[in-house]
Amino acid sequence: MNHEKIPYRCCYQKSNKKEYRMQFLQPSTIALLSGLFFLTCIPSNRAQPYQLEWFPNSMDKLEKELSIRYNSDQLVKLKKGMHQAATFWHEADGNAEVFESFVRDHFAGDQVSLDALFNRFESNLEQLDGHMNEIAVSLRRQVDLDVGAICSFDELFSGYDPSAHIQDDFFNNKLAFAVLLNFPQTTLEQRLIEGETWSRRQWAETRLAQRFSKRIPSEVNLAIAEATAIADQYISEYNIWMHHLLNDRGERFFSAGMKLLTHWNLRDEIKAQYSNKAAGLIRQQMIQKVMERIIFQTIPETVINNPHVDWNPFTNEFKLATVQDAGIPLPADLDITGKREPDSRYATWFSTFLAARKMDPYSPSAPTLIARRFDENREIPEIRVKAMFEQVLTSPLLPKVAELIKTRLGRPLQPFDIWYNGFRSRGTYTEIQLDSIVSKKYPTAQAFEKDIPTILIKLGFPKEHAEAIAVSIVVEPARGSGHAAGASMRSAKCRLRTRVGKNGMDYKGYNIAIHELGHNVEQVLSLQTVDHTLLSGVPNTAFTEALAYVFQTRDLELLGLSQMNPESKTLNILNEFWATSEISSVALVDMAAWHWMYDHPNATPADLKMAVLQIAKDIWNRYYAPAFKQKDVVLFAIYSHLVDGFLYLPDYAIGHLISHQIEGQMNKTGHIGMEFERMVKAGSIAPDLWMKNATGFPVGAEALLSAAERAYSEIRASRK
Ligand SMILES: [Zn+2]
Repeated sequence: MNHEKIPYRCCYQKSNKKEYRMQFLQPSTIALLSGLFFLTCIPSNRAQPYQLEWFPNSMDKLEKELSIRYNSDQLVKLKKGMHQAATFWHEADGNAEVFESFVRDHFAGDQVSLDALFNRFESNLEQLDGHMNEIAVSLRRQVDLDVGAICSFDELFSGYDPSAHIQDDFFNNKLAFAVLLNFPQTTLEQRLIEGETWSRRQWAETRLAQRFSKRIPSEVNLAIAEATAIADQYISEYNIWMHHLLNDRGERFFSAGMKLLTHWNLRDEIKAQYSNKAAGLIRQQMIQKVMERIIFQTIPETVINNPHVDWNPFTNEFKLATVQDAGIPLPADLDITGKREPDSRYATWFSTFLAARKMDPYSPSAPTLIARRFDENREIPEIRVKAMFEQVLTSPLLPKVAELIKTRLGRPLQPFDIWYNGFRSRGTYTEIQLDSIVSKKYPTAQAFEKDIPTILIKLGFPKEHAEAIAVSIVVEPARGSGHAAGASMRSAKCRLRTRVGKNGMDYKGYNIAIHELGHNVEQVLSLQTVDHTLLSGVPNTAFTEALAYVFQTRDLELLGLSQMNPESKTLNILNEFWATSEISSVALVDMAAWHWMYDHPNATPADLKMAVLQIAKDIWNRYYAPAFKQKDVVLFAIYSHLVDGFLYLPDYAIGHLISHQIEGQMNKTGHIGMEFERMVKAGSIAPDLWMKNATGFPVGAEALLSAAERAYSEIRASRK
């Protein structure tokens, strides 16, 4: 058995399909901002052109009038608040008279009024988010749980988002303006530098202000949603029918009916073939060739998602299939002319850029998607993220580990070895043995639920805390692989969903259940024990994933079985290092491509293709070519999230680094329960501050690199 970490599978329950794109938002924020992609902020010191000409007069008038009531400090706040409100005020919100009377009524000029306003928003937003979340979870119940057939209307219910219009409502009824008038917007720089000394209340006020820092016209949201849907569909239907791949001798290497989605399934098949010593290599080479054809767009259009055509990816020849393996009748209008895919991949990607760019004018503090991603979603400056990735990729470990892989494979490295996953050794138990142990222990979802306090005590949570946490978690049988549905108000429960078969839970279901339990415990503690519900949660999903893995990697221990042997652990760290290097390279391609698009807004899909090919080659040549002894490889450009992810890929690489920092701290102290509680109490403050509180250091690559350095030395020593 191997216990390799599953890469950052998003298993948070979200009420819409854009979940992976919204990972870095808190669930509560998602409830409120659904339809928007990004948390935003507008710096108060930036001069904004107001939409209506009467604002300067009105504000001067109000300042003079209210100077009788308020001292100079309060007047500074008033000016800032009026400026913030005016930035978002449209003609339809009212004339000068309406604005002025709104300011008179809603400016909380003294601490008592401000406290009342803050407290009411905090408790009401908790109720609003909490109930919206409960509605969404209820409406999705039939689709999410293993409770019988899904009817057509169940799909409609599950797609309905009851919170979709809250943001608009809050501007229309002026609650958003009450926040803008009284709580300052902040820049990332302020949050990172001044945030170190802010009180918890200041952080909570900051998060409150951020919720109302953009007012996006519905047509912009619609354009983004449409581009997203088109890109999602393009990717989700991009299958390769593997049995129809032929070599020069017309031989087939993949089983009948095998359909692999680009790029995830193709990549995973390359990984799976490492254990096929006899015939893995030709399959891996064949898949690499398919990937290259996709990247270069020389793939014949007719072979995409088509089981009726046989194709030799090396020569690019294709013909009507001589075998049928899909059970799909031959379409009468099947076109097997020789047209290549007409750069649709790049056209689709560029459309996401054009849509995202529509939001720029409404986002003055982060006027590009790149800025919104880094400054607002991730809250780590792009320059630092890039430096972290480069730190991994320029580490002397990269060529050393490459050499080690070459030795283990017994052949020169090939480009697809960026996905090498052979740093693993067999575990002590077979999957069948583990299935049998688990199914006896957990015959039903209820049996697992009942055992949660014991599991938590084994992980080092104090007994009374373990019992209190368990009360807030309900275990239910999942229809899919499993997920953790958090609560957004303190009175609601979290749901742990996992697969429970007729014969009880199997090992895979158990492993996922333990992972999801990690999420649930984080969800419970970061909502119930945090001092402000406006700060509930963690800085972003990479943090909750890292915390979930802390649980997941201890799954065998929790069954009373011995964990991995030390060598497996060491090899796993090298595996992590190799995977982080690969995904960091892909992230750099994503980042460079978005910069290129912003620099070339009138480009054609063919221009984008040429640019991406060059970017991918440059990154390969800089970091990998010396170790692989091969230049100009383009494989980093195969990721599907490049096309549909809106600059999402850096999150994966950052996630790997964060995971190592948290795991390192857990290993150092050895007190998982207590450390877990201490860490998550910080809530959703800036990632660096959270990490400093948790580990003493900001988010960075050092923890992974030093662990990998140690692992490499140990492996070298054991080989001598
Ligand atoms: Zn997860």
